[in-house]
Amino acid sequence: MTKSDPYAFASIAAEQIIKGMGVVSLPIDPKAIARGRGIEVVAKPMQSEGVSGMLVRFGNDFAIAYATHLQNEGFENFSVGHELGHYFLPGHADAVITGDTGSHLSRAGFSSGNKYEAEADRFAASFLMPRHLFYPAIQQAGSGLAAIENLAALCKTSLHATAIRYTQCTRDPVAIIISRGGTIDHCFMSATLKNIDGIDWLKKREGVPRNTATYAFNQVVDNVLHGVRVEATSNFQDWFGGRRSIEISEDVVGLGRYGKTLTVLYDINVPEPEDEEDEEALIESWTPRFKH
Ligand SMILES: [Zn+2]
Repeated sequence: MTKSDPYAFASIAAEQIIKGMGVVSLPIDPKAIARGRGIEVVAKPMQSEGVSGMLVRFGNDFAIAYATHLQNEGFENFSVGHELGHYFLPGHADAVITGDTGSHLSRAGFSSGNKYEAEADRFAASFLMPRHLFYPAIQQAGSGLAAIENLAALCKTSLHATAIRYTQCTRDPVAIIISRGGTIDHCFMSATLKNIDGIDWLKKREGVPRNTATYAFNQVVDNVLHGVRVEATSNFQDWFGGRRSIEISEDVVGLGRYGKTLTVLYDINVPEPEDEEDEEALIESWTPRFKH
C-alpha cells in the first residue's frame, strides 16, 4: 500500500476495527458484527439491477439490507461489509443519506466511480480480509486460482473480491483480470509485477489478447454461467508486451451469475536484470554489423 493510494485510510480503518475487537481468526462475520452493534441486518430481494445492499437510518438507529439475487454468500458478506463501511467511515452516513432519516442504495463491487462507494468497497475488502490475518493465510494458500479459491473459502468472500485483495497483498508477481466477452472490464496487478520494467500495464476496457486461454474461454457463453475452470499457459508478451517471451500460467474461471470471467496470471519468472544483460551482450556479440 503506497501513500498515493487514496483509499488506504478506508483499509486501515477497517483493519483497526477488527483488531480492536480482538478477532484472531478468519472468517470475519460481518452480519454478526453488525448485529452486535445493534444494527438490524436483513436479506432482501433488490428490485433494481446492480443494487447490492442498502443502509437505512432512523435518527441514531441503523439497519442494513443485503441483496440475495447472486446466491453467493461471499457477495452477501461483501455487501454487508460495504454498508458497514458507510456506517463506520467518518462522514459517510451523512454524505450518503440526506437528513437523519432515509436510506442509501449501494452498488458494491469495484465498478463505481463514486468516491463513497469506492471507499466502502475498500473498507469491505479489508474488513473481511484484514492484512494481519490475510498475510499468514496467503503463505498457506498455494498459487494461482487455487490460492484465491482457498482464501475465498477461508474468508467466506467472493472469488472476485478475494482475487483483488490477493493482488494487493501477495509478494509474487501476479495479475488478475475480470473480462466479459472480448473486453477487459478491469484488472489488478501486484506491486511486484508493477515493478518489472519494460512492460505495458493492463488497462481497463482494452481487448482480451486473442492468443490467450481467456479469449478462447470467453467465446463459449456457457463457460461463464456454469463456472467452468481452466488451467492453461500463455506467453507473457501476449498480455504485457515488452521483449520477454516467457511462458506463464493462466488460470481462468467463469463467475456464474455475475456474468464475468476471472483470469489469474502467475508463475511469472522474469530473469534477473544481470542475466538479461549477459544475454543481450551475447546476442550483440554474435550479431553481424552492416555498414549503411
Ligand atoms: Zn454504498
